[in-house]
Amino acid sequence: MKNKVTIIGAGMVGSTTAFGLVAANFTEEIAIIDINNKLLKAQVMDLQQSVPFWGYTHIKEGNYKDVKDSKVVIITCGSAQKEGETRIDLLSKNAKIVKEIMPKIFSENPSAIVIIVTNPVDILTNIAIKMFPKKEQQIFGSGTTLDTARLRFLLGEKMSVNPKSVHAYIVGEHGDSELVLWSTATVGSTALDLFYKLSQKEKQIIFEKAKNSAYAIIAGKQSTYYAIAAALVKLTKSVLFDKKTVYTVSHTADGRFGIHNISLSLPAVIGAKGVIKEPHLKITADEKRLLRQSAAVLNKAEKSLLL
Ligand code: NAD
Repeated sequence: MKNKVTIIGAGMVGSTTAFGLVAANFTEEIAIIDINNKLLKAQVMDLQQSVPFWGYTHIKEGNYKDVKDSKVVIITCGSAQKEGETRIDLLSKNAKIVKEIMPKIFSENPSAIVIIVTNPVDILTNIAIKMFPKKEQQIFGSGTTLDTARLRFLLGEKMSVNPKSVHAYIVGEHGDSELVLWSTATVGSTALDLFYKLSQKEKQIIFEKAKNSAYAIIAGKQSTYYAIAAALVKLTKSVLFDKKTVYTVSHTADGRFGIHNISLSLPAVIGAKGVIKEPHLKITADEKRLLRQSAAVLNKAEKSLLL
């Protein structure tokens, strides 16, 4: 099977992800689906005309038949946050969309790997996994992959070190209740606290800046798309080429840390089969408490859908 990706949603995130994939030049075909036909046509035409500068990727206006021979399907369709809205505010609108499209995906291609990006990403991932529990390994949300990148960038700037060498994770909800696992953070193989002395206050400022980036970006330009698109290019690559790279994706917690029936982000190894390993984590009692609190926020929001 060729390296084909279907992206559902031709908005800011979907089209920027397609652009990132074209520039990265490892995907043979990209099909894009959107209910807004005029937007879809325009995005595909613009993307196609970038192809000669990067290499060769076939890009087309797609439909669900394209999922049949796609290894990866990326869901970016639905409502985005507006200024003053939280991700959880989008829940009922976007849950309806995800419930509609998940069966269409797996009826076309039972082995597709599905990456959910639409917010609130954790709850939508959980809904999708509950609809197809046997395909749990194949479904994950981009989760805090983006938030972790934001944290690594900010720490790298502060410590004057390449963010690729900063191994510090944001876990939990992709949203207001997320947390940093400071106890596991390293620079290279050196504990972060040994590498650079950051006060508690400095850590808190950096974390708040990472956590609240979406609000700041949305206030300035309505939506966030470059960094999430970069995250999606990397997640797609890890699946297409079985790279087995660790990312903080959203997935069922599966009883870890006493958390059940909810999806949230923890580090996981991503490869051709989707989520292939969820490594053991040694974290502090306080981090466990914050993680459970984050799970409770998600649980409450998901339950509100049923009311
Ligand atoms: P956007 O409004 O630019 O694009 C959404 C697109 O979805 C629109 O073009 C719309 O026509 C289309 N759409 C709506 N319903 C559809 C359906 N049933 N089938 C096919 N297409 C449909 O929004 P955006 O800025 O691209 O954001 C998309 C989603 O991604 C939002 O929910 C946003 O909150 C989320 N997001 C997530 C992250 C993350 O880290 N998880 C980061 C950024 C944005």
